[in-house]
Amino acid sequence: MYLFLKEEKFMYTNFEELERDCSVCQKCKLHETRTKLVFGVGNPESDILFVGEGPGEQEDLKGEPFVGRSGKLLDMYLNGIGLDRYKNIYIANIVKCRPPANRDPLPEEQDECAPWLYEQIRLIRPKIIVCLGRIAAFRLISPNFKVTAEHGLFFEKDGIFYMGTFHPAALLRDPGKKAAALGDFLNVKDKLATIAS
Ligand code: URA
Repeated sequence: MYLFLKEEKFMYTNFEELERDCSVCQKCKLHETRTKLVFGVGNPESDILFVGEGPGEQEDLKGEPFVGRSGKLLDMYLNGIGLDRYKNIYIANIVKCRPPANRDPLPEEQDECAPWLYEQIRLIRPKIIVCLGRIAAFRLISPNFKVTAEHGLFFEKDGIFYMGTFHPAALLRDPGKKAAALGDFLNVKDKLATIAS
């Protein structure tokens, strides 16, 4: 059950209904080429939300975010700070359907899809949102966000701490960034401990 508000915003009262409605979304052209919509995975009661860019080939087939090579690396970083994608975090993407040939999601596709993510954020009420890569950081932190200069820093907005870090695919392309990414994940762990205490 949801209420339509002005500017086509909607407000759901429950996560399952949000997922059910999102799973049949046809708001942009990406629905024409998807195999499965990738809504998200994890525990919606979590304090931490990770947001990637959009599903790739493996994610499109399985209907789950970050299950390909990038996902394996992400899981290693998560496990390294005591997090588990099925237990104590939630993972979503800026767009829920795979952009063809893994291109960047177009601004209009992101605009169409954003209300689903904003509802996920509103219902999960995370304390920390980690943006994986520039597409997520541009949308959720600032269009001027510079991953190289600003990764690992926290920005507070409306009571949520946002942090941008490298996309796992960027780490696979450039392993020289892996140590910096590990530092960012350790910052997340410390931040959560500070907020919780
Ligand atoms: N890259 C992303 O940004 N998200 C996924 O779910 C998979 C790869």
